[in-house]
Amino acid sequence: MITIVGVTKGRSLEQAKEAIGVGITDIGENRVQEARVKYGQLRISIPNPGVIKWHMIGHLQTNKVKEAVKIFDLIHSVDSLRLALEIDKEAGKINKMQGVLFEINTSGEVSKYGLKPEDASGIIKEIEGAKNLEIKGLMTIAPIADSPEKSRPYFRVLKELCNKINAENKTKELKVLSMGMTDDFEVAIEEGSTMVRLGRAIFGG
Ligand SMILES: *Cc1c(COP(=O)(O)O)cnc(C)c1O
Repeated sequence: MITIVGVTKGRSLEQAKEAIGVGITDIGENRVQEARVKYGQLRISIPNPGVIKWHMIGHLQTNKVKEAVKIFDLIHSVDSLRLALEIDKEAGKINKMQGVLFEINTSGEVSKYGLKPEDASGIIKEIEGAKNLEIKGLMTIAPIADSPEKSRPYFRVLKELCNKINAENKTKELKVLSMGMTDDFEVAIEEGSTMVRLGRAIFGG
């Protein structure tokens, strides 16, 4: 099954509500501050706010973690051991099991956040014992390109890395692969994506 995350960053509350009205259950935001405002507004303006799952897809600073764990069901952008430990600590304070994905810089572009593919397995092992983290999978963002085909190798790297980590650790399987955006989600799905993050495909622009 493939989950569609409707990316509402920069969109109005009305647009978010419209998307929810036609069946979107997963909302993605890239800033804690903006998410907090929409989260608060949606809770009091839709019939079933509890069914909505909130996804943090942008870079997360450690000083925003306390706020983030209160809002998000899944944080896609864990890109350091330090951040993972901070999330574990803050989630522990509110007795929450926080779902996380590790962001992987599959292209090696210097402008991108994310762990180096070769570092991921070691870091995941190091925090296996974290009591309030549920490591569900991996996320990547392919470089901007003029054709979706160009994203394929990066998605393949993520899938292969996931397979490798799962082969090394038989006790806990990583199941989520968050990859694919408006311009390349079909290719991402062909390469095994389980979660696509769509902004323009849903909201236009
Ligand atoms: C904005 C954003 C998206 C959605 O981008 P579109 O190209 O509009 O689908 C997906 N993932 C991340 C991390 C984003 O910041």
